[in-house]
Amino acid sequence: MRKTSYLASLAVAACMLFASCSNETDVVNQDEVSDAVLSALTNAGFDVVNQAPLKFENGYLVEGDIYLTDADIASLRVGNRLPVEEQYSTDNLVSTTGSRVITIYAPTGRKGYSAGMIAGLDLAIARYNAENLEVSFQRVSSSNSADIVMTRLSKRDERRGVLGSAGFPTSSGDPYGEIKMSGILESSYGLSTGGIATIIGHEMGHCIGFRHTDFFDRSISCGGGTANEGDGGVGANYIPGTDAGASLSDKSWMLACTDGSDRPFNNDDKTALDYLY
Ligand SMILES: [Zn+2]
Repeated sequence: MRKTSYLASLAVAACMLFASCSNETDVVNQDEVSDAVLSALTNAGFDVVNQAPLKFENGYLVEGDIYLTDADIASLRVGNRLPVEEQYSTDNLVSTTGSRVITIYAPTGRKGYSAGMIAGLDLAIARYNAENLEVSFQRVSSSNSADIVMTRLSKRDERRGVLGSAGFPTSSGDPYGEIKMSGILESSYGLSTGGIATIIGHEMGHCIGFRHTDFFDRSISCGGGTANEGDGGVGANYIPGTDAGASLSDKSWMLACTDGSDRPFNNDDKTALDYLY
């Protein structure tokens, strides 16, 4: 069976429910990405064979849910192949000076998120805050001063099976400022609050510097052939104290591909969160 990606795996699942939706191949091949971009991503250590990048917004969706613009790609360093361990972070992390509240705004109402989606966001926030980290999250009612703004994907992207996207912390120590999130996880995919919290919490994890738990072999959660994402030019630093390797049964919230199920923090996830923050 072909590998399914974080963004497309639920689309495949949904196809069992909705007779008219397109299959994964259509989803992935909808827009051509130039050879120059593909080779830049390959040189930086991203897997573009098993996980074809998508044209997305003003840039590309790489590894299923990492948003990179042309400027981001132009600044990627040549990547390294990495050893096989459990948890990894990017080079840039959020600077805390001991304690930092990261505010998140998500719109509600007709063009925003349903109560079920907001409940998922609130559960994701509660899960982070229960770990008593140097970073904590707080949902705020205005986008003006929010550190992270969660916005709806375009209808087209929601329909073609994109679940969410995020990026990595800035070189000045701020979290990535925007999570683009599907608004139909409850209404179209029927996910539980825990399943929604897992996907939103996954994007929040990228924003504060977490790589995919199984980036060294996406086949662990995504199926298909062995595929090492490399350090992607953003760093993939092993987090001490976490297990060697990753497995699907560990159900880390940072596995590259989701099946829509609830993945609260496991012991290694907690070790990794505590180590970084
Ligand atoms: Zn991801």
